[in-house]
Amino acid sequence: MAERMIVVGGDAAGMSAASQARRRRDRADLEIVAFERGHFTSYSACGIPYWISGLVPERDQLVARTPDAFRDDFDIDVRMRHEVTAIDLDRREVVARDLDGDREVRVGFDTLVYATGARPVQPEWTRDDVAGVFGVQTLDDGAALLDWLEREPRPRHAVVVGGGYVGVEMAEALVQRGLSVQLVEQAAQPMSTVDPDMGELVAEAMRGTGIGIRTGMEVTGLQERDGRIAAVLTTEGPIPADVVVLGLGVRPNTALGEAAGLPIGPSGGIRVDRRMRVPGVPGVWAAGDCVETLHRVSGMPVHVPLGTHANKQGRVIGINIGGGYATFPGVIGTAVTKVCELEVGRTGLRERDATDAGFEFVTVLAESTNRAGYYPGAQQMTVKLIAERPSGRLLGAQIVGRSEAAKRIDALAVALWNGMTVDEMTALDLGYAPPYAPVWDPVLIAARKAVDALAGTGR
Ligand SMILES: Cc1cc2nc3c(=O)[nH]c(=O)nc-3n(C[C@H](O)[C@H](O)[C@H](O)COP(=O)(O)OP(=O)(O)OC[C@H]3O[C@@H](n4cnc5c(N)ncnc54)[C@H](O)[C@@H]3O)c2cc1C
Repeated sequence: MAERMIVVGGDAAGMSAASQARRRRDRADLEIVAFERGHFTSYSACGIPYWISGLVPERDQLVARTPDAFRDDFDIDVRMRHEVTAIDLDRREVVARDLDGDREVRVGFDTLVYATGARPVQPEWTRDDVAGVFGVQTLDDGAALLDWLEREPRPRHAVVVGGGYVGVEMAEALVQRGLSVQLVEQAAQPMSTVDPDMGELVAEAMRGTGIGIRTGMEVTGLQERDGRIAAVLTTEGPIPADVVVLGLGVRPNTALGEAAGLPIGPSGGIRVDRRMRVPGVPGVWAAGDCVETLHRVSGMPVHVPLGTHANKQGRVIGINIGGGYATFPGVIGTAVTKVCELEVGRTGLRERDATDAGFEFVTVLAESTNRAGYYPGAQQMTVKLIAERPSGRLLGAQIVGRSEAAKRIDALAVALWNGMTVDEMTALDLGYAPPYAPVWDPVLIAARKAVDALAGTGR
């Protein structure tokens, strides 16, 4: 009889695991059943801001593989609109509710992949009775927001609450739709994933795009008129709004797993080993936004909810269940985003992470340009490096600039991943031609500056 693999959650992590396992084991050997409570499989939440802005015209362009494609091409039994409500580890079965048929099914498993993603942070002041307030976690959320934006009376004033990457991407999307946008952030700068000095550059540039940046301000409530959002109430007074988008971050969606007895780590995510097995629970695997992972620089467990990790971790599970051997080596915190013309990249530790981890370090800021200064379109770019003292090992890097800035973080990420020192980095053989870089690439200029800073500390 075929072994049965059950997947809970039909997006990046879950369906990567399912399709990878199927590539290695056929139906006669491995039956795969995937439960997804929503309407879509393998969709790109990352693309939602670009769909809302109109850059991506159709919702279906964000769906990489439909349930039918999984059924037809991968022989995976995809059960849509089925929410798993319990996992019984003793009986080795899951209980799922068919949300449309309103009935319950119980299905046994040999292996279980827990891939339920993350849940958005819901502030105390959100209210179900006020229309016009939206999250942007799922394609259904995106569709609801789009419907509101296109319905009469058309909203003109948007407030985005939260200045993380989802908040800034949504602010851009709404500006591009012609709305006036205010972004409210409790901290002193938006983009707390970079250090405050780099976050200030982001805030400055965002102001230049017409987005109102309200930092150091806390939202305390919502004001409605005839059941529709009218204003966001803050510690500094009300801000008029006829649409509100929430981007307050996410937490690992672990409730179902916790109830079943899966171990939770210090970061709040489900604990997994290098092969993405849940320790102490044979046959159970977990991946994606619901798990914690190892930060390769700090050595600490962290929760980094990004699609890039979810896909890789799911693949690792699929290879292992498929009979192969694969491990997930951890993360270094690389991320990129853009808001209008501004690009932001980061990798490794911020200053406060490096301090928390107990490192001694120097930091440098290097100003340069993306192209040779004389070449048309040359634009300012700031690179920040954090290097361990006295070893010179790169601990973290951040970039804020315009075109061709963000993806330069990849060179720094590779250097950091491989434990390079800033000294070694000064000789890196990076590409140079005037349309692409100054003769000393901004990355190399920053490395040289870091070497000087280390020398100045008498290392
Ligand atoms: C607006 C936005 C922009 C983003 N941009 C980027 C980006 O640029 N780069 C990047 O790397 N990442 C980005 N991300 C993050 C990325 O989308 C997530 O990290 C990724 O989707 C995580 O995949 P996952 O499979 O772990 O979880 P999810 O994609 O959340 O999928 C989990 C699935 O499980 C289902 N589910 C949950 N509980 C149950 C249950 N009990 N029963 C059945 N089904 C269940 C959910 O419906 C969901 O479909 C973005 C996210 C958002 C919201």
